[in-house]
Amino acid sequence: MNTYDFDLFVIGAGSGGVRASRIAAGYGAKVAVAEEYRLGGTCVIRGCVPKKLLMYASQFGFALEDSKGFGWRVSEASHQWENLIRAKDTEVARLERVYEELLGKAGVEVTKGRATIVGAHEVRVNDVSYTAGHILVATGARPELPEIPGADLMVTSNDVLAMERAPERVAIVGGGYIACEFAGIFKGLGKKVWMVHRGSKLLRGFDEQVREHIGSELAASGIQMRLDSAVAAVERKHGAYLVYLGSGEILEVDLVVAATGRKPNTVGLGLERVGVQVDGQGAVPVDSYSRTSSDHVYAVGDVTNRINLTPVAIHEGHAFADSVFGAKPRPTDHEDVPFAVFSQPQVAAVGLTEAEACAKHGAVRVYSTAFRPMRATLSGRNERVLVKLIADDKTDRILGAHIVAPDAAEIIQGIAVALKAGATKADFDATLGVHPSVAEEFVTLRSARHATASQS
Ligand code: NDP
Repeated sequence: MNTYDFDLFVIGAGSGGVRASRIAAGYGAKVAVAEEYRLGGTCVIRGCVPKKLLMYASQFGFALEDSKGFGWRVSEASHQWENLIRAKDTEVARLERVYEELLGKAGVEVTKGRATIVGAHEVRVNDVSYTAGHILVATGARPELPEIPGADLMVTSNDVLAMERAPERVAIVGGGYIACEFAGIFKGLGKKVWMVHRGSKLLRGFDEQVREHIGSELAASGIQMRLDSAVAAVERKHGAYLVYLGSGEILEVDLVVAATGRKPNTVGLGLERVGVQVDGQGAVPVDSYSRTSSDHVYAVGDVTNRINLTPVAIHEGHAFADSVFGAKPRPTDHEDVPFAVFSQPQVAAVGLTEAEACAKHGAVRVYSTAFRPMRATLSGRNERVLVKLIADDKTDRILGAHIVAPDAAEIIQGIAVALKAGATKADFDATLGVHPSVAEEFVTLRSARHATASQS
């Protein structure tokens, strides 16, 4: 029998890698994890956590504006970006220590440095070689800059989170999660914001009605929308940046953020040495047990480019450890994963879009309502929320739920439980609402329109 230094060597101490390490160690495996940057990975260090703290900061900006309608007189308010970043850094450092403690308590050996696979069961970190029975690739993804002249003048969300000073004028390129979220952050902090997106609608892959709704909501919040607008080039001039749009328009800003997608971190990992295939996007294809094309090498999280969300990576890491070290084989479950975009207002959904539901189930009933939320009556904010349910015409089962509203993320979590439990429209109808709330619309929707694959 082979003897290795470790039963499991994990590359990357982000959400997926840390969960897999801890669970595997809990089953008695000898585990090491290598991390080249900071423990916690994208979510903790430069993603979900710091982004959400910045979102909270910006919500006060919107709330200050809204407060006047409720009788508040706020004489002077200003925002100190550097104080926010300092407070955010302190919290992130605290969480990083929590991760370190969790790994330590679980008996996982942490190695700081960039790991490369050098042989079938061999990984090297800082010129030290380790052997392992299994290798788990959990290296995540990194932001990608578009290939345009002046791309090097653009920053990514990573840079924004570490910036010492806030810009007054910002152009955000892209129309996905990060673009929508950072546009809201800067807008709430009182900055002038342009969203420049090459497509006609934001959030590709989301329900079409949702995409239209969030586009008009972000515009109503004061963000300057430039849709169907490709960026031709970026140039630095007299301390500012010029963003050249395909339409001929030139935006003059203090910061250009590229939120144009992320790429799996596989370059230079040595995957080819152990026969691990990589697809055209640079992602590692895996089966439902997160197994790569090489027997003892597994991969979880964003590096596999399945559903790139923290809870999914954690689930994949946990299922891997159960399967390989816990004698409890279980495939990953990617059905009905709820998700939210922390734009302002937020977008959240679980299940299928209308088009997907039609394609998969033929005939569906669509229930939706868009209305002015109560809070907007006194605040005077030009704001509408959207609540939408899609039910299977044959079984009455709810196939998809979508919402664009403040706190949409908090609302969708409970709806996701209902979908996972197989709730029908009749179950929703039998549930009483919480009044007055936006969420109650999910149980009071009554009039349906019928949709079929041919219409969508
Ligand atoms: P997304 O894939 O969500 O969005 C990328 C955007 O950039 C799209 O609008 C895309 O347009 C556009 N784009 C891509 N390439 C170019 C280009 N060359 N020029 C101009 N525009 C371009 O990526 P993000 O980086 O925003 O987020 C990455 C992933 O991380 C998300 O998909 C999500 O899985 C995860 N994430 C989750 C969050 C959450 O849960 N709240 C928050 C942030 C990220 P087009 O649509 O036309 O392709």
